[in-house]
Amino acid sequence: MLTLDFHPTGRHFLQIPGPSPVPDRILRAMSLPTIDHRGPEFGALGLKVLADIKQIFQTQHPVVIYPASGTGAWEAALTNVLSPGDHVLMYETGHFASLWQKMATRLGLKTEFLSYPGKDEHLPAAAGWRHGVQAFQIEERLKADTQHSIRAVCVVHNETSTGVTSNVAAVRRAIDAARHPALLLVDTISGLASADYRHDEWGVDVTVSGSQKGLMLPPGISFNAVSPKALEASKTARLPKAFWAWDEIIEMNKTGYWPYTPNTNLLYGLSEACDMLLGQGLDTVFARHQRWGEGVRAAVRAWGLEIQCADPALYSPVLTGVMMPEGVDADAVRKIIYDRFDCSLGTGLGKVKGRMFRIGHLGDCNDLTLMAALSGCEMGLKLAGVNLAGSGVQAAMDHFSSHAAVVPQRKPA
Ligand code: PLP
Repeated sequence: MLTLDFHPTGRHFLQIPGPSPVPDRILRAMSLPTIDHRGPEFGALGLKVLADIKQIFQTQHPVVIYPASGTGAWEAALTNVLSPGDHVLMYETGHFASLWQKMATRLGLKTEFLSYPGKDEHLPAAAGWRHGVQAFQIEERLKADTQHSIRAVCVVHNETSTGVTSNVAAVRRAIDAARHPALLLVDTISGLASADYRHDEWGVDVTVSGSQKGLMLPPGISFNAVSPKALEASKTARLPKAFWAWDEIIEMNKTGYWPYTPNTNLLYGLSEACDMLLGQGLDTVFARHQRWGEGVRAAVRAWGLEIQCADPALYSPVLTGVMMPEGVDADAVRKIIYDRFDCSLGTGLGKVKGRMFRIGHLGDCNDLTLMAALSGCEMGLKLAGVNLAGSGVQAAMDHFSSHAAVVPQRKPA
């Protein structure tokens, strides 16, 4: 027998920054029978989710939905607008920005990878992994590109490996200030529906996202939101693509269908997720994530540990990276918390492996879910022999009890 549902008592605390817990309401919606994806009922579902998801991206333009993980949607974004050998400007904010850059190189693009110009005493080997995109560097680089050979600028909005966001509107302003025609491609795989994100207002050409984070769905669908300029570029882009090609999908989407078999049950879930998020209002969704982030950071500070994000203006509302003191293996701490208290925390990825762990505070959670997770962290840190300055649990309790919840937990009678 598989031990996947090994479940002595109570719920597992899935506190990684995605996949995030899937609410019962969405699980129930996904358990409906799979229907004919060419039949009349499906068309209505397709049109609904395609309209709803535009509101989540804050765009009037098409959003393409793929039955793929976020990595697929990264590839779709690049292959639809670029040609072999095109010069792409990317920015190293962490592990996911690095993976996207690696993919672009593998696809035959000429990538230039900018990185944070400063130093960091706590993380000397990965200074840029504590900061966001520095828009001035993008502006300088684009101004120097007088031939306009750079075809696209690619940045990650919410770097899931670090807990640092980047100011996408500032990147847009930098491109405009340089009077440069490059397209702006943004990954908000872990930012969408948790952190404020505005595809149209911020002048983004392609936004990439996925299902398993703020949308509270299982992994398995991902998105490209496409501006008119990106759609125009796709008409002449020559990187090979077939499954990912926007043209046929957007054409069939007009009637609510796809050229291939879509992920029907995940689309039921998407419909339910959009009802939940839009019913609550995006501003409310963003505010509750901000508040959770503040509570978790209060705990980290009280422990006397370092928050990985070094710029308070860029703290992620989705996750917090917690750096370990010198000599403490973050994965050993995580293992204690997992084994003893049935709570999963995010591992340190790439350059910060073993140096930090990540607490996810997104999607289907509430104050007490986070208090439980923070208790698990505090007990685990102590069991691992980490010297704590004080009680993070107490600090978070103080924070949550002195700041009213953004959404009332019960409807007034
Ligand atoms: N980009 C970011 C910011 C991510 O957080 C992730 C996954 O966590 C990815 C890209 C890759 O997405 P996926 O694992 O769904 O392929």
